[in-house]
Amino acid sequence: MEVISVVPRGYCQGVVRAIKIARRTTELYPDQKIYMLGMIVHNHFVVEECRRRGIICLENKKLSRLELLDEIDEGVVIFTAHGVSDSVVEKAKAKGLIIVDATCPDVMKTHEIVRRHINHNGEVIYIGKRNHPEAEGVCSLSEHVHLVSGLSDIEQLGPMNNILITNQTTLSLLDTEALVKECCRKYPDAQVMPEICNATTVRQKAVMNLRDVDTLIVVGDPHSNNSNQLLEIGLRSGIRSAYLVESPQDLREYMIKGADRLAVTSGSSTPNSLTSEVIRMIRHYADTGVLPPVTVTDYPVL
Ligand code: SF4
Repeated sequence: MEVISVVPRGYCQGVVRAIKIARRTTELYPDQKIYMLGMIVHNHFVVEECRRRGIICLENKKLSRLELLDEIDEGVVIFTAHGVSDSVVEKAKAKGLIIVDATCPDVMKTHEIVRRHINHNGEVIYIGKRNHPEAEGVCSLSEHVHLVSGLSDIEQLGPMNNILITNQTTLSLLDTEALVKECCRKYPDAQVMPEICNATTVRQKAVMNLRDVDTLIVVGDPHSNNSNQLLEIGLRSGIRSAYLVESPQDLREYMIKGADRLAVTSGSSTPNSLTSEVIRMIRHYADTGVLPPVTVTDYPVL
């Protein structure tokens, strides 16, 4: 079995920056309660590290970021890499909280593009995932932002003028292209600003460009949008079997048995220590036919 470690893979700059900001916050405010508004990034190991450092991570899928703020009365609030709307910032300020913003600069850029267009009396069609925090942040910017998650959402859009079409940064290149095309068919005069970030683009393209690979292992959290996209892109690019494993503990022999050319990649919120251990185990299996036990117990997140 040939084992290919896909490059680039793993952490993007936005995730590294968010983790560093969270760490620095615990050093700067040792006597304050520190809250994280949602998962800092969609990775269980990174969230756990934040908890170990004393950060209280508020996460409830049924509540918006604005509603989650009701659970904080004092101290520091960290906004996650996914970004928040202006109303969340205003509410945190009104409550007298110390704000630490770990929003990824790429997400901030999308916010700016959307804001600028709305300020010019425009309408924005935002292609994004329903209930994803990044989409929530952008859609809460204005009632003139219309979320499109699938073709049925486009059918329901009414007549509009001065339209800008843009998208969530971590979407699939393939899905987004299809939805943009359909929006442009309905609104031929719309302006298009593609916003899938560079980190997402190069990781997806690296999977699309794999040749003669029959098995793909993606290391990533089940909640991570970009990890799931890598899995789907692998399957859609013709790879016969693809599996998402959250950690080395989840790797099973049936996933790799019989593979001739196997590739390993990971989402941009996956600590490299997890992926390295998965690769080590698969290489051992390729050499010996035996899947070794996991030897690592602690996975450094940076
Ligand atoms: S995946 Fe892209 S948008 Fe998301 S944190 Fe990384 S660089 Fe930023």
